[in-house]
Amino acid sequence: MSDEVALAQAAVPTEDTIFGKILRKEIPCTFIYEDDKCVAFNDVNPQAPVHFLVIPRKPISQLSKAQEEDEALLGHLLFVGQKVAAQVGLENGFRVVINDGKDGAQSVYHLHLHFLGKRQLKWPPG
Ligand code: AMP
Repeated sequence: MSDEVALAQAAVPTEDTIFGKILRKEIPCTFIYEDDKCVAFNDVNPQAPVHFLVIPRKPISQLSKAQEEDEALLGHLLFVGQKVAAQVGLENGFRVVINDGKDGAQSVYHLHLHFLGKRQLKWPPG
């Protein structure tokens, strides 16, 4: 088991997360995109030459906890991600990942979409 998976398995959902602190500007982070519904920023521990996250301002803890009312927001996060992907030069393609819960190796319990690219990604994922 990798260190990342071990850490993720030990993570517990909490009301406040590091991404909440980033959104409230309590810890520094450079946004590569922001609007009234979401922000995007580079992952601090990149798993590919380009690895950024798109997170909603609304504190949805994980995809499986999203509600009917979040349907348009979920689409918006994907749409923003593909726009940012084009801006950062992922013209050859990219991968979108959402880790959900313990089996999904989620470590931060604020919904986030990973966008990874600029290298050949393998399949199946680990
Ligand atoms: P997950 O395992 O899907 O919950 O992913 C959480 C991601 O957040 C990991 O890829 C971390 O490297 C990333 N991360 C944690 N803290 C920060 C931070 N302060 N700034 C940017 N990325 C972060």
